[in-house]
Amino acid sequence: MSIAENLCEVEKRIAAAAKKSGRKREDITLVAVTKTHPAEMMNEAIDLGVTDIGENKPQEVRDKYEFVKPVKWHLIGHLQTNKVKYIIDKVSLIHSVDSIKLMDEIERQAQKHHIIMDILIQVNISGEESKSGIRPEELNLLLSHAGKLNHVKVKGLMTIAPKTDNPEENILHFDNMRQLFVDTSKNICDNVSMQYLSMGMSGDYETAIECGANMVRIGSAVFGARDYSKI
Ligand SMILES: *Cc1c(COP(=O)(O)O)cnc(C)c1O
Repeated sequence: MSIAENLCEVEKRIAAAAKKSGRKREDITLVAVTKTHPAEMMNEAIDLGVTDIGENKPQEVRDKYEFVKPVKWHLIGHLQTNKVKYIIDKVSLIHSVDSIKLMDEIERQAQKHHIIMDILIQVNISGEESKSGIRPEELNLLLSHAGKLNHVKVKGLMTIAPKTDNPEENILHFDNMRQLFVDTSKNICDNVSMQYLSMGMSGDYETAIECGANMVRIGSAVFGARDYSKI
C-alpha cells in the first residue's frame, strides 16, 4: 500500500469515528508520526495534505528539519531537559511534558527565543510502570505551576495507552483521560486552556476518537512498519 492509499483509508476512518461521536473530520487533528522515516517520505505526506507531523526524538527533528517542507512539528516522545534547546525553535507543540523541571527548562529556552511554547501534559493514565507521564493526582500541581510562567501555555493532555491487539481494552483508559480533560477544563488556571486531548495511535485511534480524542498520533497506519536499523 502506498502512503496515499494509507492516508486515504486513515482519513476515512477518522471521519467515521468523528461522526460517531457527534463531531466532524475538521474537529480532529491528525499528527502523522514520521519517526525513523526519511524527509522524502515526510514531504510526500505533506504534498498529500498532511499539516502536522510528529517525531519522538529531538535528534530526528534536528536532523530532518531543514529537508522537510513547511509543516507543524510535534515533539511527542520523552524529552530530556538538556535536549529542549535543540527543538524549541522548531516545534509547534510539545506533547510529552511530565515534570516541573521540564516545564521550567521550556520556559527558559522559550524566553531566550522570544516565543511562547504550547505544551501538553503527558499523563500515565494506565499506571504501567514502563510509561512516562505524570500520575493523574499530580496534574493540578503542574497546571498551577504553569500559571507562574510567561512563555509556556498548556493546551491540553496527552497519553500513550497500553499496546494491545484489542483497542476495546483501552476504552477504560481513554474514558478516564476524557474525564480528567473535562474536569480540568472547568478549573480556571492562568496559562491553561484545555484544547487538545492527544490520544490514539495506529492500533486504537478510532476508539480514542470515539472516547473524545481530538488529536491522534498515527505512524505505521500511514507510513507502514518502521525499520529501526536504519537510524
Ligand atoms: C511512535 C509513536 C506513535 C505512533 O505509533 P503507531 O503505532 O505507529 O501509530 C504515537 N505516539 C507516540 C508517542 C509514538 O512514539
